[in-house]
Amino acid sequence: MLVTLKDILKIAQAKQCAIGSFNTPNLESMKGVIAAAEELNQPVIIMHAQVHEEMGLCELEETGTIMLYMADKAKVPVCVHLDHGTDLDYIKRGLDIGFTSVMYDGSLLDPKENYANTCIAVEMAARYGASVEAEVGSMGARESGEAGGESVYTDPDEAYRFVKETGIDALACAFGTAHGLYLKEPKLDFERVKKINSMIDVPMVMHGGSGVSEEDYKKVIDCGIRKINYYTYMAKAAAEAVCAMEDKTFFHDIAVCAQNAVKDDVMKAIKIFSRI
Ligand SMILES: [Zn+2]
Repeated sequence: MLVTLKDILKIAQAKQCAIGSFNTPNLESMKGVIAAAEELNQPVIIMHAQVHEEMGLCELEETGTIMLYMADKAKVPVCVHLDHGTDLDYIKRGLDIGFTSVMYDGSLLDPKENYANTCIAVEMAARYGASVEAEVGSMGARESGEAGGESVYTDPDEAYRFVKETGIDALACAFGTAHGLYLKEPKLDFERVKKINSMIDVPMVMHGGSGVSEEDYKKVIDCGIRKINYYTYMAKAAAEAVCAMEDKTFFHDIAVCAQNAVKDDVMKAIKIFSRI
């Protein structure tokens, strides 16, 4: 069943847990993620990242159409989200085909421009009944990059003003996580998350969510994180499973192996995020 980000995060808020949000740049990852959510009977968010199209993976309209079809027929609530949309035209393309949520990412822009563009994204999404996530502060490295870049942590006062003035539905916060593989153990600023949570009235999102310890996941959820973006370690788990295959003669066998590995890894993540 296809739902918006706003609605799926209400479930998280009511259960005081977080919803797993997974990039699904190919059919195998889509099928693996949805199968995991259905087996655990938990809501889930599937995401198309703008950068994955730039990397030569699926085009938004190709992958988005299948994501929406799969969300629609799923037995659990599924939100179809555009991850790190860095330009408004691209976001509009997602909304045009029916994405129920978009992230506008203007974190690398001048703050004034980030505010203004986020307001436009909110206005645009409202016309489609879709939700908007946006970011203040910066996670450093982008979706495609290695972790370890210089991060700018989200300032609580800035977060308060940003949420109030833009009318977004969810706020992505920078507090020590990074995209990609962690080169050293991440040090998360839990107090910052708690403080921001106490000041804003929309759910908070953690990016760079894979590679964090189980204990830290629990702590961030306690501090108010309601959406956890998780991709890198799921992609790594699939690659490792394929590498360990004895017979790699046929691509279809490789695809099934990767799909099953995605499902197993995502099930582990969802169990932690949903506290089951
Ligand atoms: Zn991200």
